[in-house]
Amino acid sequence: MTQRTFSIIKPDAVRKGYTGAILAEIEKAGFKIVSIKKASISKEQAKGFYYVHAQRPFFEDLCTFMSSGPLFLMVLEKDNAIADLRTLMGATNPANAEEGTIRKQFAGSIQENAIHGSDGEDTAAFEIGYWFAGCELI
Ligand code: ATP
Ligand code: MG
Repeated sequence: MTQRTFSIIKPDAVRKGYTGAILAEIEKAGFKIVSIKKASISKEQAKGFYYVHAQRPFFEDLCTFMSSGPLFLMVLEKDNAIADLRTLMGATNPANAEEGTIRKQFAGSIQENAIHGSDGEDTAAFEIGYWFAGCELI
């Protein structure tokens, strides 16, 4: 069934000039880009987005990193989009990521790991609504 997921090309990948290469991987894998926008987010906005991680030791550093430079916010669509994007991304720590995955190719560390993807239907709905208005998703 056609499904939507939310993704971010993170500031590390944008800084390194990998945006186009990552978008090419995403399109090659069959995703339709429903919406995409460049943004520079505040640390407070990052904290609201990653609120589920608020108690984790890496939370402050993660939110500082996510607000350290421009990123690309995206809504992607395909059959089984949520799980398929997670597969295409690879493991959180690029050292453990499968060959050919986006994180294996473009991530530098467990924190600066190039891309975000929603991990379930509920989180996809929350994350799309956090960054996009309905009128941006037609
Ligand atoms: P994302 O939610 O960004 O798609 P993920 O679901 O693979 O990544 P999570 O466990 O949700 O991983 O962690 C969210 C983000 O927090 C990671 O992508 C990474 O940038 C950062 N992170 C996770 N674990 C660590 C860690 N041990 N040290 C530093 N940063 C971390
Ligand atoms: Mg996650």
